[in-house]
Amino acid sequence: MIILKDKLGKTISGESINFVDTPNKDGMMIPEYIIIHFTAGRGAESSINWFQDPTAKASAHIIIDRDGRITQMVEFNKKAWHAGRSRWADRSGFNNFSIGIELENPGKLNKVNDRFYAWFEKEYSKDVVVEAKHKHDSEVSYWHNFTEKQIDCCFRVCKLLMETYQIKDILGHDDIAPFRKNDPGPAFPIENFRAKLVGREDDTADIYKVNANYVNVRKGPSTEFDSIIQLKKDTEVEFIKSKLGWFYVYVLLKPGKDEEPLYGWINSDMLKKN
Ligand SMILES: [Zn+2]
Repeated sequence: MIILKDKLGKTISGESINFVDTPNKDGMMIPEYIIIHFTAGRGAESSINWFQDPTAKASAHIIIDRDGRITQMVEFNKKAWHAGRSRWADRSGFNNFSIGIELENPGKLNKVNDRFYAWFEKEYSKDVVVEAKHKHDSEVSYWHNFTEKQIDCCFRVCKLLMETYQIKDILGHDDIAPFRKNDPGPAFPIENFRAKLVGREDDTADIYKVNANYVNVRKGPSTEFDSIIQLKKDTEVEFIKSKLGWFYVYVLLKPGKDEEPLYGWINSDMLKKN
């Protein structure tokens, strides 16, 4: 697989990857992030049709079906309409600088009498159901799995995008729109992708700076929790995880201080990427 003129191709000389144009796109952009989604639909085909409909006002750069087949709909240097209202640290409006990858998947399933149904009432058999807690929920729920071919294909596309563009991070739609969206959800190994592709596993720390005159580091992810400490502008913190617009961080205190390591929650609006 290659990227040629912002489109995926199979080889330099020949075959291209299936490209289906959509009116649901804007002008040029420089991609800095990859955002992972699930389609929450009946199948890849219905999502591709929907994204061609001007009334949908939605699209994505890439759709990957359960067999690992790719359809590209928007060139990687143009804006697709996949993120909606979105925010991560001090960045917002992710359509302007991110590539959207949609994975064919009906999304969260409802369990009724030990049987599993999508929101559009189709039943799914037990062997494709993942029982897991979404990071923004307090209880376990049920999710349609992703296939190995799909994850594999998504990984190869992400790797190629990282090699081609200056991608800073791979995030879920549920990271950048945590109150509205739950995709790709707990069945997708996003932390594994970030570790392997963005380098979280090694020494590359994910450092943010305080972007307000002072912020509270709290015991939990809302203002209802007590403040542990206040940090001044430009204090550095290391990102560990996110929940509902809050970042759980390690506070990088000055070296030489014999203090316990300090961890806590900060409203991510108050942070910017170092
Ligand atoms: Zn989404």
